[in-house]
Amino acid sequence: MYVEIILPLPLQNTYTYAVPEQLQQQIKTGCLVLVPFGKSTRYTGVVYYIHQTTPQRDFEIKKILSIEEDAKPVFRRQQLRFWEWVSQYYLCKMGEVYKAALPSGFKIEHAQSYKPKTESFVRFQSSYSEPEKLHQAFDLTKRSKKQEDLLLLFTDLSKIFQKDQNREVSKKELLERSQINVSILNALVEKGIFEFYEKNISRLDSYEKPTISPHALTDKQEEAYRNILSSFREKDVCLLHGVTSSGKTEIYIRLISETLKLGRQVLLLMPEIALTTQITSRLERIFGKKLGIYHSKFSDHERVEIWNNLLKNDGYQIIIGARSSIFLPFKDLGLVIVDEEHESGYKQQDPAPRYHARSAAIMLATMHGGKALLGSATPSIESYFNAQTGKYGYVQLSSRFEEVALPEIVPVNVKELKRKKRMKSFLSPTLIEKIDDAINKGEQVILFQNRRGFAPIYTCEVCDWTPKCKDCDVSLTYHKSKHSLTCHYCGSTYRLPHQCPECASSQFGDKGFGTEKVEEEIQHLFPGVETERMDLDSTRGKTAFEQIISRFEKGKTQVLIGTQMVSKGLDFERVSVVGILSADSMMNYPDFRAYERAYQLMAQVSGRAGRRKKQGTVILQTSHPDSPLIQSVINHDYTSMFQSQLEERHLFRYPPFFRIIEVNLKHKQEKTVKDLASHYAELLRKHLGERVLGPDKPIIGRVQNLYIQKIILKIEISAAIKVIHQILTDVYHEMEDIPSFKSAVVYYNVDPL
Ligand code: ADP
Ligand code: ZN
Ligand code: ZN
Repeated sequence: MYVEIILPLPLQNTYTYAVPEQLQQQIKTGCLVLVPFGKSTRYTGVVYYIHQTTPQRDFEIKKILSIEEDAKPVFRRQQLRFWEWVSQYYLCKMGEVYKAALPSGFKIEHAQSYKPKTESFVRFQSSYSEPEKLHQAFDLTKRSKKQEDLLLLFTDLSKIFQKDQNREVSKKELLERSQINVSILNALVEKGIFEFYEKNISRLDSYEKPTISPHALTDKQEEAYRNILSSFREKDVCLLHGVTSSGKTEIYIRLISETLKLGRQVLLLMPEIALTTQITSRLERIFGKKLGIYHSKFSDHERVEIWNNLLKNDGYQIIIGARSSIFLPFKDLGLVIVDEEHESGYKQQDPAPRYHARSAAIMLATMHGGKALLGSATPSIESYFNAQTGKYGYVQLSSRFEEVALPEIVPVNVKELKRKKRMKSFLSPTLIEKIDDAINKGEQVILFQNRRGFAPIYTCEVCDWTPKCKDCDVSLTYHKSKHSLTCHYCGSTYRLPHQCPECASSQFGDKGFGTEKVEEEIQHLFPGVETERMDLDSTRGKTAFEQIISRFEKGKTQVLIGTQMVSKGLDFERVSVVGILSADSMMNYPDFRAYERAYQLMAQVSGRAGRRKKQGTVILQTSHPDSPLIQSVINHDYTSMFQSQLEERHLFRYPPFFRIIEVNLKHKQEKTVKDLASHYAELLRKHLGERVLGPDKPIIGRVQNLYIQKIILKIEISAAIKVIHQILTDVYHEMEDIPSFKSAVVYYNVDPL
């Protein structure tokens, strides 16, 4: 008997092993096994399938060593099928998908493999376990008031006299409630009255409060809901295009309830944890314990518990999660919702599998015979195009809940103001006035600047020398609070230079501004006003987001300053002013998606203003107030942005008309990577001709001491993807014969963002 095993390695899809006699009875598809690999390594792999075909090899076929956890399958068959799709479409190996999918706590060779969390509990020793015998225990404690009290409290907490309501009491609970020293409890154990026992407990918080019913939908929401249902009758995917604060979440809640009634599961994908905080508490109040949460800030042990819960037949019915939750062991998904579907956070960049969770979620839903709903106020060009061409259903919600007007967006021409010398800092007089106004009225303000740190450039004031990362071709960002310089590409931190290496001057200054500088300026202009920053630096801990959001919700913070994190789906009541500090920096980015992204970011952050009752104001600082993109933001005109972008995409052969696949090559030596890249491009051109562009050095040509080259493929949407992928795989193998290829990092990125 042989098995094909998926190992967490990027070399082959599966590896063949023999099954020793004594394990043949137990082994099943989807269970984890320990196997030897190479000379001395062992890996935990997953059984992909079992067969009887003796492999034709001239080397010995190794045997599997053991089977994990009484051969209980950790995967469902459907998951393995899904992995197959991911590895084929995103041009990576099954092992890489496996590695991304399975929490490492499951892996036997992993140092911190999963162990259930245990807690000490207290119970009567068997001679006292009958209520009738209790008086004997009380006799034994007569001489100590404290012992007697503890015994009383325990009988009370454990409800030992109420037959059907007996409950277990932990040591911790007993000590906390009694405020009695642990030595008293130990004395009762020594007297043979109590004993301790260990019990497995869950690491996951479980929602214990009573649930409430959802809001009734408004007429417009009800209509949108019905339209979604009827679109699902014909199509598997529907795009819900609803302006900010139109109640998309309320519609999700309704669809989730209906899916649960059918006994099927729901996956609600969120692009970032910043968002899950608010939505989770909204959904928990309604769905209680049926809801599980899964995201990157969870520990490995917590992930294992969620996974195990889903393997049970009566586990979670709804999962809210970040992109990697598509890999969880769902039993029967009736619906997958992709909230804020336009978000680039859905695409995994590194390591492989470099999947886009929106595309993968649609595939996942289809494999389960379920439906997919994509929700956004600013859909991706791709999804909107698919809706326009009838591939997806399309449902629109064009007014806000309670008909609150969309915010008024006021452009402020900073170029003009600078010319007139009226810009004292990076905050325009209009914006300062609006902030002042809002604060005086007890309202709140959000300021958006898409750069973290204090200043993006730190420089010598005499000769303009700027410190760069030693491993990457980028200038370092100045972080004033940490009194250091940081590389935003590799994370290395450097001390501030005392002397310029070029001219020996000790005068340094900075250029540009990040969130830290904005915060400092606001504190300077509005002393005593509570400010808070929300960016990558201020949200490291597991609950950091939650705390920032909750302080802002409660009104403890008046001004929230942040990067794109503040643009995402947050729902606050009292925000009347939003400031977009530099619109131009978003547009001047050399990427075909720059305009689409700039529009989405500005529209989304604007959408945080005036969500209840009163119309909000957005101050948009730009040097090009008349540019078509700024005009479309001001007029809340998604369609005009879409039309003009679509023309460009068509003209320059970009998605949604062409599929892009990137070949990334990285190497320590610049010459080696250049040679490899041109050879690679040559081989590709033989098969794909003009579809191959490059190789080129990207704008950031070196990261973490590796030189980078990129080849871009533009493939017609109508081309048979299987054929293309076969060519790409073959060329990759051909390249593997070149000696320097082994020391290079080379990978495909399908549908890069
Ligand atoms: P979106 O997800 O489209 O941005 P939300 O679902 O967050 O919008 O709705 C915006 C706000 O309006 C939320 O605070 C929500 O509770 C409220 N709201 C929306 N629809 C209703 C409804 N039908 N009944 C009561 N409150 C609603
Ligand atoms: Zn200098
Ligand atoms: Zn670096």
